[in-house]
Amino acid sequence: MMGDRDFRSLIKNAVESIGRELEIEIDSKDIKTIHLKEVVQCLRRSYYDRIDPKEVERRGFSDLLSGLLRKLQFGSNPKEYVIDDIKLKGQADMIADDSIILFRPTNSTPQDPKANDLLYLNACMWIYEKKDGMIIYISGNREESSFALIRDKKMFEEVVRRVRVLNDLLKEQKTPILEPSMECTDCQYYQRCYITKKNTKQTSLAEMLGFSKDD
Ligand code: SF4
Repeated sequence: MMGDRDFRSLIKNAVESIGRELEIEIDSKDIKTIHLKEVVQCLRRSYYDRIDPKEVERRGFSDLLSGLLRKLQFGSNPKEYVIDDIKLKGQADMIADDSIILFRPTNSTPQDPKANDLLYLNACMWIYEKKDGMIIYISGNREESSFALIRDKKMFEEVVRRVRVLNDLLKEQKTPILEPSMECTDCQYYQRCYITKKNTKQTSLAEMLGFSKDD
């Protein structure tokens, strides 16, 4: 009979491999194509993802929600928006009735949409030339809440600015500054950002106080 621990690792491995299949593919060498996902999250994280990546730990099947929807036949195709010599590439989860729809998993019903989801949705409206959109949060207990948005130019200009910044930093091979936020808690680079390794030499209190072992 399969033990509880084996069962859990089986699920974890399944989530990891499906997650890899569903990931938005980013060619780390093509710095002239910046993905929308990269600029609505911490730029430092996106930089590390391209330069020195570490796999993200997925918590469960709910994390795969939008990736699965994008792959279904009603999922939308990726689209590009040209910013000078850079292409901003985005992909909505679904386009229905001329509106952009995003699906996001959540632990509990949120009072407000997350800032990065708003940035993503708004940018999709500019990329796909649509005027409105909606984010639907779905929780584990099958509750859902939705937030509608009308596209906003200023919010999109912020995304465009971040596209240019990430492109410049990748070109110059400069690590972006820390962007401390709630995102850091689940970030695979947390240790790299906040915990500095020190070369510590093991010593005893007696040695520190100047006593020899024989005293
Ligand atoms: S830990 Fe925070 S600041 Fe560092 S890369 Fe991750 S999200 Fe960005």
